[in-house]
Amino acid sequence: MAKVYWIKGRSAGIHQSIISKISGLLSLEELARLVVPEESLALKINLSEMGYSHYLPPVVVTSLFEKTRDLGARPVVTDSGSLFKGSRFSGFDWINTALLLGYSSGETFDSQLMLAGGYTHEEGKFYPAEGRRLGGVELGSLLTDTGNVVVISHVTAHPLMGLTGAVYNLGVGMLTGSGKLRVHSCLEVAFDPSRCDNCGVCLSFCPTGALSNGYPNISYDPEICNNCLGCFLSCPNSAMSIKPEGIPVYQESVVEAACTATDNLRGSAFFINFLSSVTPQTDDHPFSDIPFVPDLGILASEDPVAVDWATYQIISSGPGVPGSVAEQFGVLHKGEDKIKAISGIDPESWIQYAEQMNLGSRDCEFLSNT
Ligand code: SF4
Ligand code: SF4
Repeated sequence: MAKVYWIKGRSAGIHQSIISKISGLLSLEELARLVVPEESLALKINLSEMGYSHYLPPVVVTSLFEKTRDLGARPVVTDSGSLFKGSRFSGFDWINTALLLGYSSGETFDSQLMLAGGYTHEEGKFYPAEGRRLGGVELGSLLTDTGNVVVISHVTAHPLMGLTGAVYNLGVGMLTGSGKLRVHSCLEVAFDPSRCDNCGVCLSFCPTGALSNGYPNISYDPEICNNCLGCFLSCPNSAMSIKPEGIPVYQESVVEAACTATDNLRGSAFFINFLSSVTPQTDDHPFSDIPFVPDLGILASEDPVAVDWATYQIISSGPGVPGSVAEQFGVLHKGEDKIKAISGIDPESWIQYAEQMNLGSRDCEFLSNT
């Protein structure tokens, strides 16, 4: 049975700073055994889009990088790029955004700041997968070639998964561009011209030209749309939506991609979910609303399903933040399912599928205040 550790967010002194808490994580046996002298260690983050302001503080990653390097390992900080033309689209954009967000490549990370699928997002290969949806998926070579991996996820609500966490970061964040397109292939966006005021915001995010200028609305060509969701994430008027029939297929595809990732890592993985600044938008939105729950600290486990299930339970069991979307959706009180109300998605269905696929289990020992 896996253990899930809950490190609370409050601090009463220097010994409880975020840096001390990160160091404390390295004393956990499940994480300590991944930090091997002279061996590579990938720190898989989820870099945010420019404009999203509640992202994982770089000091968290910096601390983990420095501590693991001091222990003799060879850490590298990595992520994958986006499918849509935002601030993480090309290799150049991704590095530039990482620097602007505070990941100082040269001094802090010894230039060990790299895309999992290389500068083109396409360095990697196809791995066959079990399951009823994908048949296999393309994984970024950095992640499959590195020894062990620590998956560091900033938790938010998610319009397709209910919440982001370890399984999402594994199942989407470790793929090449082709792998992401494969996972997205079950999705379809729908354009509602009655909501479109022709503002043009979505045009710059569209990588295929499926959106073009028009009057009184932009013009949308589904034939050349690759379902990257850039228009959905950026439209201020909700004129672009995701057709609901593809969502269960997407969830199972993400689970299968996560299984493919764990099956093909050279080493082992450990998962750290940050439940701070939990916003209704994911980090790949170009904006963010205020968080809807208070700072709930850090959850850590070697089981991605257990840590995500614990994340879901903890977010629902506590109070919501007054004035946030939790109040708007009537889920301010303890025990009210904030994830389901805010995202419109019940994560239990894909969590059950993840258990069926042996990615992990909800059946875990929960250790709080560690
Ligand atoms: S961002 Fe939305 S409202 Fe603006 S042009 Fe695109 S679809 Fe229309
Ligand atoms: S129209 Fe299609 S390709 Fe263009 S941004 Fe939207 S989802 Fe992506």
